[in-house]
Amino acid sequence: MKKKALAFALCVLLLTGCSGPAVETDGTAMLSEEVKYVALTFDDGPHEDTTAALLDGLKERGAAATFFLIGTEIAGKEDLVARMGAEGHQVGNHTWSHLRLETAPPETVVYEIQRTDEAIGAILGGSGYWLRTPYGLLPQSGETLLSVPLVKWSVDPRDWESRNKEKIVSAVMADIRPGSIILLHDIYQPSVEAALEIVDRLQAKGYWFVTVEELLRLYGIAPQPGVMYRSGK
Ligand SMILES: [Zn+2]
Repeated sequence: MKKKALAFALCVLLLTGCSGPAVETDGTAMLSEEVKYVALTFDDGPHEDTTAALLDGLKERGAAATFFLIGTEIAGKEDLVARMGAEGHQVGNHTWSHLRLETAPPETVVYEIQRTDEAIGAILGGSGYWLRTPYGLLPQSGETLLSVPLVKWSVDPRDWESRNKEKIVSAVMADIRPGSIILLHDIYQPSVEAALEIVDRLQAKGYWFVTVEELLRLYGIAPQPGVMYRSGK
């Protein structure tokens, strides 16, 4: 059995010289222009009551997402952050204390971003995690202070306001298009339920759910530090 498994793994890796049903597609097929990509993003977590169920649902559906974490929310929930990394999601920085950057002094802005970057790096390794600023606001000094790509959004169902699954789903379905970046918050149960229904409905329409980093790359964008991206198109 072990030898068989190894041979299968090698086939998948090489994608050549193998036949049979094991390998259904190759890399070039996934890059077809007919394929539609979108990115789900979740701010303000991780949350002990809701994030695990979201990760379970995304895993069942083979959907990747991007999580912008508040630094103060990480302690005690390191396992959730580790899961995000292990399960193919992108993890990003949403400042240490959800600070309004446009009124903060530059040294505070740098501190809020660096401390969160270090907290994520302590779990997942590395540094330079992409940033979503709270409320999408920029510091007074503009983007020049920031050394990583910034991510905004193009579809905002205002889930924090309605806290209503059906409203969130229909708002997203009304605005969605290939390249969209969808803003949600995994700290609310209706948002998590809406997110999974959105995945089901859009996958049925031929959409693929990828991380923001993958989305930009798939649409030919080379992300630059200090530049804010709102969608893949
Ligand atoms: Zn936020």
